[in-house]
Amino acid sequence: MKLSLVIPCFNEAGNVRPLFDKVCEVLENKIDSFEFVFVNDGSTDETMANLKEICSLSSHPVKVVDLSRNFGKEAAIYAGLEHASGDLITLIDADLQQDPAYVLEMVSYLDANPECDCVAAFQEKRHEGAFRAWCKRRFYHLINKLSDTEFVDGASDFRTFRSYVRDAVLSMSEYHRFSKGIFSWVGFNTYYMPYDADKRLSGTTNWSFGKLCRYALEGIVAFTTVPLKISTWVGCLTSLGALIYIIAVIVEKLAFGIAAPGYATIVILILFLGGLQLLALGINGEYLSKTYIQSKHRPIYIARDVIDNQK
Ligand code: UDP
Ligand code: MG
Repeated sequence: MKLSLVIPCFNEAGNVRPLFDKVCEVLENKIDSFEFVFVNDGSTDETMANLKEICSLSSHPVKVVDLSRNFGKEAAIYAGLEHASGDLITLIDADLQQDPAYVLEMVSYLDANPECDCVAAFQEKRHEGAFRAWCKRRFYHLINKLSDTEFVDGASDFRTFRSYVRDAVLSMSEYHRFSKGIFSWVGFNTYYMPYDADKRLSGTTNWSFGKLCRYALEGIVAFTTVPLKISTWVGCLTSLGALIYIIAVIVEKLAFGIAAPGYATIVILILFLGGLQLLALGINGEYLSKTYIQSKHRPIYIARDVIDNQK
């Protein structure tokens, strides 16, 4: 049995070597054979130089896929999966937040349970600000309401799966990728294993709050079309409201001689309906822009070079 560790790296100069050492320490003599597939996602620090060094000194197979620029973690994962040749594949971050000891647990679980196809780690307790954690919970609640695909709150990309799960994930070649949704969408038997995330060894997270919100929106647009239908329903409701209001005004005028109240009502209605129309247009625009980019069939990533210490 061969295990491939796919590791996306963006400005992780201080982490790649400690991660490599730790993985070797934990997996040697426990797993028959394992390979590293590092993806350098357009790092601007010494990450690539450090990866080349690892490649030359390692007694284990190491591949380094060097992307031509920063394509984002999702694209980096895709690139790594394309180059992973193991029977089992582990996705793990480069920053040592995910203790490699859990990889052994995942592999043992898969060995002991042949009917299980994937073991995904999920965080029972989030070590982050209360507001951020609350936003994430709301996001999962919302997307699970809107989408048929199931999203598990706290599930991370840290997971180990069999090679046919990898093939299924690679067969989804959409440009705007949302791994959590993609892994749920392809199905297969997944066991969710609780784990405790550590602090980053060095560097800072690449996820600002704004970037997270953008990513959440991508997930919603990628996995549900319900927002597109909102304007239909809101349009129906407001038209019905308008009809009732017209009847009320006519009755008031004919039966009681009250003139239709003017200015304030009109301004409020124009602003309200104008706002709704812009919102509906914006939602349509989100889907249209994704369709537009996808229709160009651009590659998900471009590699400058692939280094392989076995060649
Ligand atoms: N990453 C990447 N490309 C990016 C951003 C992040 O390859 O554009 C990698 C990063 O090097 C790390 C993993 O994705 O190995 C997770 O990133 P990070 O630690 O910033 O995210 P967090 O742990 O805060 O979710
Ligand atoms: Mg991290």
